This record gives sequence, structure tokens and C-alpha cells, in this order.
Amino acid sequence: MRDRLVGVLLFLPVPIVLCLLTQLPLGVFYSIGIALPLMISHRFYARPWALGRGRRRCLWCGSAAVEGPLVVIEEPGALTTWRCCGGHHGLYLRGTLERAWKLRAWLKGAIFTGLALVVFIPLAAAFGVAGPLRAADGVAAFRLLVALAVLPLAGLRFRSGRLTDRPVPAPFPVHIQALIGTWAVLWLFRLVGLIWLALALLHVAKRSGIV
Ligand SMILES: [Zn+2]
Repeated sequence: MRDRLVGVLLFLPVPIVLCLLTQLPLGVFYSIGIALPLMISHRFYARPWALGRGRRRCLWCGSAAVEGPLVVIEEPGALTTWRCCGGHHGLYLRGTLERAWKLRAWLKGAIFTGLALVVFIPLAAAFGVAGPLRAADGVAAFRLLVALAVLPLAGLRFRSGRLTDRPVPAPFPVHIQALIGTWAVLWLFRLVGLIWLALALLHVAKRSGIV
């Protein structure tokens, strides 16, 4: 229980960063100036914590698990070992990672492009060098790209992967999903993805004078 609570607390910087980047609550400079160090520093404390519990928490559901299948994951630059509480959660985890691997080029391209736009367009607008673009355009582009990346990944239902002893490749480090459980991250993708898709389309409609 304590691990689950600490995991949620360590996950909090993720929504805080997203809120700072999309709401700009402290103005452009302070919001981005706080969001970027928060984002970059997160892995230095969250990853060791998640890795330290990798064999005693289920990477799919986040519950305590001292028994159950181990899953070796080929993360970027690291081969790491995690546990799942049972065979079916192991298969769901593999299914998600296999889908992420298939979509890796799109996921990386959309997310990194979106991040660049949500940082540079508001900054350029604040300096008066963005032409007709406004900060809200960068935010809408980010929301649209992230939604179009995570909605196909999360899908409508959890999928089972293949049963194999081979390491599973992952396009992104998995410590963030380990903090609250992969299933919870996929639900967040579905909910936030749909809301962000709607907000981005509404922004486009407003900017083009449709509404
Ligand atoms: Zn589980």
C-alpha cells in the first residue's frame, strides 16, 4: 500500500508538467521555466525508485507481487527485469509493449514534435517573433499530436501479447508506467487523449472562424 501511495506521489510531476505546459498558469516564462527542469529531473529519482521495486510490484497493475512471471524488457540503453502478479497481467503487459513497439516511430515523432511546439511557439509568441501564431496554437498542436499518439496505443481494450521468454523491446523507458501501473496509464491515455483531441479540434474550429 505504501509503495502504491509513493508511486502516485512520484507520478505527480507528470500531470504538473503537462498542466504547466498547456495552461501556462504562471505566464509563459515561469511555467515553461519550471516545467522543463521538472520533466528532465524526474527520471533521476523516479527511475531508481521504480527499478528498486521492479521485482516486487506488478508492472501491469501496480500491486505487490513477490511471485509471478518475470518480464525482461529491452528499454532504450538498458535491459531491465520486472514482475507481473500473474500470467494474464504478463500477457497484457506484453501486448501493450508490442503495440508500442509497432507504433514506435509515430509515438516518438508525434510526442517529440508536440513537445517542441508547446515549448517554442509560446516562447516565440512572447518574444513577438511567432508571426500570426499564438501560445494557444502551440498548446493545441501539442494536445492534438499527443492524443493522436496515445489513443491508438491505448486502444479500446487491453490486448494480450505473445507468450515468449525473449526480452520485450520498449521504445520508451518503462519507469513512469511502473509508478502507478501500466493499466492506469492506459486509462489516463484514453481519458486525457479524448479530452485533448476535443479541445484541439475546438481550438482549430475557433481559429478558423467555424464557431
Ligand atoms: Zn498485476
